[in-house]
Amino acid sequence: MRAARLYGPADIRVEEIPGPPEPGPRQAVVTPLWSGICGTDIKEYTGHGGSAESTAHPLTGYTGLPLILGHEFSARVDEVGSEITDVKVGDEVAVYPLLHCGACPACLRGEYQICRIKAWNGLSSPWGGFGEKVLVEHYQLSPLNGISAVAGAVIEPAAVALNAVQRVGVGPGDSVFIAGAGAIGVLCMLAAKASGAAHVYVFELNPKRAALVERLGGELVPDAAKDDIPGYLMQQTDGLGVDIAIDAAGKPAANEAVVASVRPGGAIGIPSVHPGPITFDVRRLTRNDLTVVGSVGYTRRAWDKTLELTRAGLLPLESIVTAKIELDEITAKGFDVLTVPSDELKILVRVGGEAVTA
Ligand SMILES: [Zn+2]
Ligand SMILES: [Zn+2]
Repeated sequence: MRAARLYGPADIRVEEIPGPPEPGPRQAVVTPLWSGICGTDIKEYTGHGGSAESTAHPLTGYTGLPLILGHEFSARVDEVGSEITDVKVGDEVAVYPLLHCGACPACLRGEYQICRIKAWNGLSSPWGGFGEKVLVEHYQLSPLNGISAVAGAVIEPAAVALNAVQRVGVGPGDSVFIAGAGAIGVLCMLAAKASGAAHVYVFELNPKRAALVERLGGELVPDAAKDDIPGYLMQQTDGLGVDIAIDAAGKPAANEAVVASVRPGGAIGIPSVHPGPITFDVRRLTRNDLTVVGSVGYTRRAWDKTLELTRAGLLPLESIVTAKIELDEITAKGFDVLTVPSDELKILVRVGGEAVTA
């Protein structure tokens, strides 16, 4: 099969490699249709990652490089194991890329996203979305059933966003501030609106991303307010502050704005991955009775709800796809574009053939 494999910083090679073995009774082999490039992939590509393994992974046994990246993908089912009866060859699916052990305390509580030895396709497994074949477990197959293969490739980051929005408690009528309109920021905005938020304010300086935010119903914090975002948001909320603020930028200034913009009793969500420790005035949390909620990946419930919301037309996921490229173009038109500040929000790579649905 063909696969794009990462060999080291700035070194991705599209090459012919052996495909996966026959699936076991509760496994399947799928062919990725569209596969998204994520910020996490870019960090691996630039050598600032840390998500890929350097020693044998306790769940998958897989070690480091070369690595088939890609954890955000839709796929067509090619082969199914003998015990799989609810998914058949030819079905189109979103692949739930989070592998878990099923036996640790977190898994026994159903909290697979914090499994002690969780692994990801595309980071800590031999198989990833930028290869033409992926061996998956039965529980990783989520039939698209009415969702396009393009939107299906965005289910994964959308689930990250919905999980963050649900964990921080966005509800009907809330005012929400989101710092940063990268893919996760825009998806958090869509998830907040789908959860009933009345106003979603977004700060983003890139004009193309800002235009998309407006098109999708977000309310932009004007560039002129960039030195006093909390002041601007106070004006919009009768001097109170927003109910919920989300740091989707992973930068100290964004975090500062988020902490300073929440009303007393409100909550702060941090789904972004900061490159290092930051400082903030912890007295604000105490005096204003604030809640801070981190989030990683998604619960199974958030994953399933993301599919349901998309099917119901409440999450327009295709709208964040700004480019579609071929596997051979993955470096020049994909990774190299996203390594520098870019207008692109989500680039999808066509990996292994045509989808019926898109
Ligand atoms: Zn991702
Ligand atoms: Zn576990």
